[in-house]
Amino acid sequence: MTETLTYRHLFGPGPSNCYPEAVSAIAAPILGHLDPLFIEMLDDTCEGLREVWGTTNARTLPLSGTGSLGMEAAFVNTIEKGDVAVVAVNGLFGERMCEVARRAGAEVVRVDHEWGRPIDPERVASAHPAPKVIAAVHAETSTGVRSDIAALGKLKGDALLITDAVTSIGGLELKADDWGIDVGYAGTQKCLGVSPGLAPFTISDAAFERRVKDPRSWYLDIGLLGGYVGAASGSKRTYHHTAPVAMIASLQAGLGRIRNEGLDAVQARHAAAGLALQDGLQDMGLELFAAEGSRLPSLTTVRVPDGVHSAVVRSYLLENFSLEIGAGAGKFADTVWRIGMMGPNANPASVVLVLGALKEALAKA
Ligand SMILES: *Cc1c(COP(=O)(O)O)cnc(C)c1O
Repeated sequence: MTETLTYRHLFGPGPSNCYPEAVSAIAAPILGHLDPLFIEMLDDTCEGLREVWGTTNARTLPLSGTGSLGMEAAFVNTIEKGDVAVVAVNGLFGERMCEVARRAGAEVVRVDHEWGRPIDPERVASAHPAPKVIAAVHAETSTGVRSDIAALGKLKGDALLITDAVTSIGGLELKADDWGIDVGYAGTQKCLGVSPGLAPFTISDAAFERRVKDPRSWYLDIGLLGGYVGAASGSKRTYHHTAPVAMIASLQAGLGRIRNEGLDAVQARHAAAGLALQDGLQDMGLELFAAEGSRLPSLTTVRVPDGVHSAVVRSYLLENFSLEIGAGAGKFADTVWRIGMMGPNANPASVVLVLGALKEALAKA
């Protein structure tokens, strides 16, 4: 049975998970995927993605699927059966990378870290003498931790560095070229403030030359996808698959919004909101989960106080304040909350709302 729309669906923070510009763009008339106006839109979107990635890579494009599809694309284009992939694991998404790499045929060398702590670039880089790939998550959404990708980039040697930037892109400093990222993937629904559905992807020319020439996936073959983005990648535009036109229009609008506000200003807004939230939670006597010095502004993890039922508080917030906070991930499902400050929600009013609502929920729930 479908629940009817309530106050919370119509007016709650739900709709503002996306920038209003991105929402309006989905509602606009849908162009044909061969319409020259759409081609311009796709080119402009790729250009906007280069800015948020911090790259000049020609092959920077929105893949047609969510962030996890970007993860698949990263591995199938770099891994052939038996290639060694060193994967840094400090949370759920690092674990997912191991599984995706294994299915792509990799011999996975997994470097585990305590959840809630950043990865140790030296330990990761020295885990194997000659890996084909080293992979790490920049912003671990499962634990609220930021890792130092630039440091890993300096130590990567001949390996290709794959980086998951799903929860950092558009909200946190990200410099793919300066940091030595060879292959990066992201998502639209986190700090970019656009609906889920696309995976911003980038691959350097050097990594493209070293790619798997006959990857196990046809759809995600970055060689074939050159035609999809056409001139921007130096390839002639050819039909590959029908572009998800509405989603690309929405991403273009979301990126336009970020450009207008200024990427630095957007990042500063995320930083300020995250810090204010974290200070406020600690002032309430709550304990943060992620290690100090490595806390993400875009996603704050906080321990559920003893004797408090995590799910009861979460539903109280949703019912009474239209506020959705996440449960913890993995073994921390019931003992940690995850609070996002992403895209349009990274603002001082959200911080006040979350802190006030949580105070009330803890007193009453
Ligand atoms: C959300 C997320 C993903 C997966 O993205 P989907 O859009 O859910 O497929 C991967 N990595 C990280 C770090 C994420 O936060």
